Amino acid sequence: MVTKIFDNILRKLEDIQKIENLSDEEMKLLSTPKRISKDKLNINGKTVSAWRILFNDALGPGKGGVRFHPNVSEDEVKSLSFWMMIKNSLAGLPYGGAKGGVKFNPKEESKKNLQEISRGFVHSFYKVLGQDIDIPAPDVYTNSQTMAWMLDQYEKEVGHHEPGMITGKPLELQGCSLRGDATARGAFIIIKQIVKDLEIDKGKILTFAVQGFGNAGQNISRMLNESGFKVVAVSDSKGGVYDENGLDINEISKIKAQGKEVSTNFEGKKISNEDLLELPVDILVLAALENQITEENVDRVQSKHIVEIANGPISYDADKILFNRGVKIIPDVLANSGGVVVSYFEWAQNRTGNILDKKYLEELLESKMLFSWKRVFNSFIENKEKIDFRTLSYIIAIKKILAAEKLRGNL
Ligand code: NAD
Repeated sequence: MVTKIFDNILRKLEDIQKIENLSDEEMKLLSTPKRISKDKLNINGKTVSAWRILFNDALGPGKGGVRFHPNVSEDEVKSLSFWMMIKNSLAGLPYGGAKGGVKFNPKEESKKNLQEISRGFVHSFYKVLGQDIDIPAPDVYTNSQTMAWMLDQYEKEVGHHEPGMITGKPLELQGCSLRGDATARGAFIIIKQIVKDLEIDKGKILTFAVQGFGNAGQNISRMLNESGFKVVAVSDSKGGVYDENGLDINEISKIKAQGKEVSTNFEGKKISNEDLLELPVDILVLAALENQITEENVDRVQSKHIVEIANGPISYDADKILFNRGVKIIPDVLANSGGVVVSYFEWAQNRTGNILDKKYLEELLESKMLFSWKRVFNSFIENKEKIDFRTLSYIIAIKKILAAEKLRGNL
């Protein structure tokens, strides 16, 4: 039986209910989306399903990406919108959580059709989008071009300019200089800090395996490589490559830029996605999709440190098993928040018309990422290392959301 992703979230919430003594009313609020919008889009005579889900907006307008993928489902979009709610609260951003998705295979569609779907998405949902309502961004298989089409369609629908209604835009359309690799930048800041705080560095070059070679995975691999860490394995949806002496990430990126698979790099040994997860590396980075480590393969995972750049890559059961085995997991809601933090910079710039210096934004990103990590890490120490980073991150985020709901008189 396939476990629904949201079931994992509900089980996590039940754990938190016990620790924090949450009331049934609070649990209901935390487990029920505020608005589910769905529609059917037409591409070339075919009909595809699309969703935009606002999970909660107590802290501000909804914020979260739009995913194009053949496996998108309401359960997945709902789960992703929940994680955005937690992530935005933990990062101290003035946003609630939201997410969108369209169920189709973008690899099989022409550029013309991709534009049509992007415009169709906004045509369906523009009434629930807007800089003060709900603000989309890129996610799996969507990018700055998708955002440009969506912005244009939105402005046509509403009849005025509003660049702050979407982030991750190209620079020419008021995007932010940092957004392209912001998620990886944020994760890299966290990785450097955990190497110190969790005493991972034992005076040798640390080894990494990175699952997923898209926006997040490719950029983090490059950053690790450039900083003298050793990336020994990378993969995409078709498999990967492994070299115990370290891979040449620039070469693999060139192959990817030609539209070829990562596994066509013959420098390294071919490796399956499953094998990559089981390598004895110092840090395993998950940057692909949900449910990659589950009860099925958790016993074979050897790395003692895992950084989740993908959303929800470890199932609830596997997460528990890993924690009990002493594996340290830096959760998605913390590790991949660089993307939304920079989206916030972009949104703020769009609203004020002020364009901030790139160096200043880089420093601001670093201080925001480290602030979030320190809060979680300090709480870990205060709890005598008995509660995992994910639970602690959720608790910090949830307390703020519930406080906001109480102040609003909704609880
Ligand atoms: P992307 O579309 O740029 O790349 C996805 C990558 O994953 C591709 O290389 C694809 O080949 C690979 N992939 C797909 N299925 C795979 C599998 N089963 N095994 C291994 N690789 C597989 O997407 P992205 O933006 O890099 O997003 C990756 C993850 O990071 C997603 O979970 C996304 O939600 C999360 N994330 C992305 C951002 C962002 O700003 N891009 C922000 C936060 C979180």
